[in-house]
Amino acid sequence: MGTFNYNIFLNEVLSQIKQEFEANNKETEYILWFSNIKYVESEELKIIVSIPSNMVKDKLITSGYLNLIESKLLEISGYKIKVDLTVKNITNNSPKKENIINELPVKPKVEVKKHPQLNERYTFENFVKGDNNSFAYNASIAVSKNPGKAYNPMLIYGGVGLGKTHLMESIGNAIYNEKQNNVIYVTAETFTNEFIQSINTNSVNKFKNKYRNADILLLDDIHFLMGKKETQEELFNTFEALYNSNKQLVFTCDRPVTELKDMNERLISRFGRGLSVDLQAPQYETRLAILQKKAEIEKIDVKLEVIELIAKNVCSNVRDLEAALTKIKAFAELMEQEITLETAQHLLRDSFSDPKQGNISIEIIQKVVADKYGISVSDLKGKKRNKNVVIPRQFAMFIARELTEYSTTDIGTEFGGRDHTTVMHSCQKVDELLISDPTVHTTIEMLKRAIKDYKK
Ligand code: ADP
Ligand code: MG
Repeated sequence: MGTFNYNIFLNEVLSQIKQEFEANNKETEYILWFSNIKYVESEELKIIVSIPSNMVKDKLITSGYLNLIESKLLEISGYKIKVDLTVKNITNNSPKKENIINELPVKPKVEVKKHPQLNERYTFENFVKGDNNSFAYNASIAVSKNPGKAYNPMLIYGGVGLGKTHLMESIGNAIYNEKQNNVIYVTAETFTNEFIQSINTNSVNKFKNKYRNADILLLDDIHFLMGKKETQEELFNTFEALYNSNKQLVFTCDRPVTELKDMNERLISRFGRGLSVDLQAPQYETRLAILQKKAEIEKIDVKLEVIELIAKNVCSNVRDLEAALTKIKAFAELMEQEITLETAQHLLRDSFSDPKQGNISIEIIQKVVADKYGISVSDLKGKKRNKNVVIPRQFAMFIARELTEYSTTDIGTEFGGRDHTTVMHSCQKVDELLISDPTVHTTIEMLKRAIKDYKK
């Protein structure tokens, strides 16, 4: 037994698990729970590994992943090897950690001066690739490896707080650290202000030179330029100059460029010339992965169930996810105690606009809606097509889509075995109503509140 190389066994097992997870499209799961398992040491028939948090520990144990590792170890080695999980205590930054850092061999590294505009936290390593952003992420990596050649210009668009700035600055940081090129990051607002300022102070040439000397120009939030005719003109000229000398341009925008109003047509056509990628709101799995990453970076030791609670309930964007986590952290520090599920629930009740705690069933939604409209649940599920049934039915489906994690297929089933396209159609109808009829919003909100209050 003495010649056993436990480390090799462990690596083999993890790489097998990785392959299996990837084959089943569970790559995120693997990254979340297995990728941070590190070999520490071994004893007779025992491997001690480190993991980053108690959250990971809970998950490995309760989900059977630890058993999976142990049974694979048995398969490979023929021996029953136990795996001990130790949490590398990241919350207590004791001197121990500094020692470790001191012991590390000093890498001879070229001193790169900090970039004046780029945020060092915005890197690809800190960005979680998920269902909502994988295309944008891959394209950004490609651009950072091949600036001016891969995709030029690149446009990243999507709603607020979804990671546009983070991705854009990641490109900037990667190129800057690698090549020390002249990377300029600027928001469209600052660009505009500088331009106006340069006119006022008779220094337009200086302004032009600054931007035309960029190797990489990252212009954030171009929607800000709507209606700003002169600045658009100036940007157009800058664009042409840089583009024609194969300098990389990256833009972000809160909508597809075709939806920009009051924007120079030529400029719009330039924005869309290269590659446009969009960012969507992340799904549950990705939200969980982002929270975990964030907890790791910020050294917040928080229970898995609390992270899950946030991931389930904060669905809007990543910025809101971060805000919820920050709140938990602040409270934990203040109270000097770990946050329980109950405290978290209480603490975050305002951040949870549309709770998806999994405790709202379609049945409750049907009951409440039917009740409010004085019809029966079976009418709601049935085939009747008169207006006093159709509207509540559409509302109920719409709310089920908003308040639960059920798919349109599931919702269709619960509504008398309807097809998922019918559910989608109903939701669309309500979307249209919400725009055309201001009272609908109030009604929907009232119904949602009644549904949420139903169980209390
Ligand atoms: P936007 O520019 O689209 O409004 P940001 O790039 O400012 O959004 O992102 C908001 C916050 O969310 C930032 O702190 C960012 O680091 C974080 N964030 C967004 N997407 C991700 C992701 N996929 N992984 C990790 N953090 C993310
Ligand atoms: Mg931004």
